[in-house]
Amino acid sequence: MTTDDAPQRLADVRERIARAEQLAKRPAGATSLIAVSKTHEAPQITPLIAAGQRVFGENRVQEAQAKWPALREATPDIELHLVGQLQSNKAADAVALFDAIHSVDRLSLVTALARAMERQDRRPACFVQVDIGDEPQKGGVAVPELPALLAEARSADLPVVGLMCVPPFDLEAAPWFALLAKLADDHGLPGLSMGMSGDYETAVTLGATHVRVGTALFGAR
Ligand SMILES: *Cc1c(COP(=O)(O)O)cnc(C)c1O
Repeated sequence: MTTDDAPQRLADVRERIARAEQLAKRPAGATSLIAVSKTHEAPQITPLIAAGQRVFGENRVQEAQAKWPALREATPDIELHLVGQLQSNKAADAVALFDAIHSVDRLSLVTALARAMERQDRRPACFVQVDIGDEPQKGGVAVPELPALLAEARSADLPVVGLMCVPPFDLEAAPWFALLAKLADDHGLPGLSMGMSGDYETAVTLGATHVRVGTALFGAR
């Protein structure tokens, strides 16, 4: 794939999302497309911005700090989401840079984020990442520990808007997405961050409010 194809790839992904929304009888535009630009540099990113994309995702704080201030200066209405694991000692940097954080998964991080938000008077929307397939190496809170972590996040006044997951890659995603949707519903959370290049249409039919798509927009990393 070349950068020349970027507007076409974006149009294709948007079309597929719209079709899935229609199939599931969800309102058009109910799903926000996060273009995950990790490992890609400005020359790959700017064609998507030119084609109208405004919501982007990164998985590393340092990489995002190097790329996005300049891109945002040129296009101030960019919305930047952190989709990767976050170390507590980077919480303040993450709060300063990102508009949403999708990887809140433990009490130490809840505490660090709450403190950084208070100091900076900035409140990025938070998603609690759930280890939906019980794969500890992936990050995310274990399903049985979710209620306690949500209670801690609420008492720390963290702006939790939803749940996020990355299902086991070798299994069909739909049952995991359905489980995440059920958990979010049980806890009265409206946001559902689920679905990547291989399964975002499935995620949209199961209620995703945010899909995180990299490869289908940028090509292979
Ligand atoms: C890289 C990444 C994505 C995007 O993955 P693709 O398969 O390239 O679409 C989504 N979510 C997370 C957490 C990621 O790290």
